[in-house]
Amino acid sequence: MKRRINSLFLIAMLLLSALAVANQLSARGKTSSPPPLKVFVSVDMEGIWGVVHGNQCSTDSPEYQLARKWMVQDTNAVVQGLFDRGATEVVVNDSHGSMRNIIASELDPRAVLISGSPKPLSMMEGIDPSFAACIFVGYHARAGSAPAILDHTISGAAIYSIRINGIEMPELGINAALAGYFKVPVVMLTGDTETCRQARELLGKELVTVAVKEAVNRLAARNYAREKVLIDLREGARQALASLKNFKPYQLQPPYQFEINFHNSQQAELGMLIPGVQRPAPRTLTFTSKDYLEGFKLARALIALAGIS
Ligand SMILES: [Zn+2]
Repeated sequence: MKRRINSLFLIAMLLLSALAVANQLSARGKTSSPPPLKVFVSVDMEGIWGVVHGNQCSTDSPEYQLARKWMVQDTNAVVQGLFDRGATEVVVNDSHGSMRNIIASELDPRAVLISGSPKPLSMMEGIDPSFAACIFVGYHARAGSAPAILDHTISGAAIYSIRINGIEMPELGINAALAGYFKVPVVMLTGDTETCRQARELLGKELVTVAVKEAVNRLAARNYAREKVLIDLREGARQALASLKNFKPYQLQPPYQFEINFHNSQQAELGMLIPGVQRPAPRTLTFTSKDYLEGFKLARALIALAGIS
C-alpha cells in the first residue's frame, strides 16, 4: 500500500513538473513573437529625389524608366528603416498617375505592394485601422506653391485649389485626414523642402520630414547628394517609428465642408448633376458631408467628372 502511494505520488509530481515546463515553453513562445506593428506607405512621384519635370513622371517618356528606379530606391530606404525599427508589416501603395510606377520586383521583398488604378481610396488604398502609422514618400506641394517642384493638387489640369473646412489643402492634408478617419497618424513625409514645410505646418512640428531636394523653381531643383539622401530616408523612418507615441491622427471637425475650384467653368458643369452639390461661383463646387470618407469619395467623383478639358 505504502509503495502504491509512493508511486502515485511520483506520477503526480512528474505530471506537475511536465505542466510547469509546458507553461514555461508557451510563455516563452508568446514573448518571442513581437506585437504587430503595421505601417502604410503611400508613394507619389513628383517628390522623389532627382525628379524635376513632368516628363520624368510620364510613362511615354524615355526619362520615366530612370525616375521609377529612383522612386523604388527612395521607397526601399524608408521600408528598410521601418523594418530596422520593428515594423512587422509594411504595405506600399503606388500613388502616382497609372499607379504602376514602382517596379514590383525591385521593391524590398518584405513589403506588400498595391499597384494599379483605379482604386476606391486612390493614393490611400489599403489603409485601415489596423495600421500603427502612415508615411508619405515622394509627395509634392499644393497647387500654387513656389518654389516647389511640380506643385499641383490631385489634377494639375482640372484643379486650381481644394479647401476642406476652409483650409487650402495639399494632397498630403487630404490624405492625412483620411488616415485620421481610420485613427492612423502620419509620422513621416519626404519630398522637396516646400512640401516638407507645408506638411509640418498642417500636421505638426513632430512630423519627421526628409527633404530630398530644394526647388529652384517649378521645373528645377538642387537634388541633395544621393548617398546622404538614402541614409536620411532610412534614418528618418527609424526615428518616426521610435517616437510613434508622440503622434496623433490628423482629424478635422465634422461636418466637412468641401470646396473645389476648377480652372474653368466647364469643368464644374457635370458635377451639378449630383444631389447636394452647390455651385456658388462658375468654377466652384461645394458640398458638406458628415462623414469624411464619403466626402473624400464625392470629391474624387467631382474631379473625375471635370475630365481634363
Ligand atoms: Zn503624382
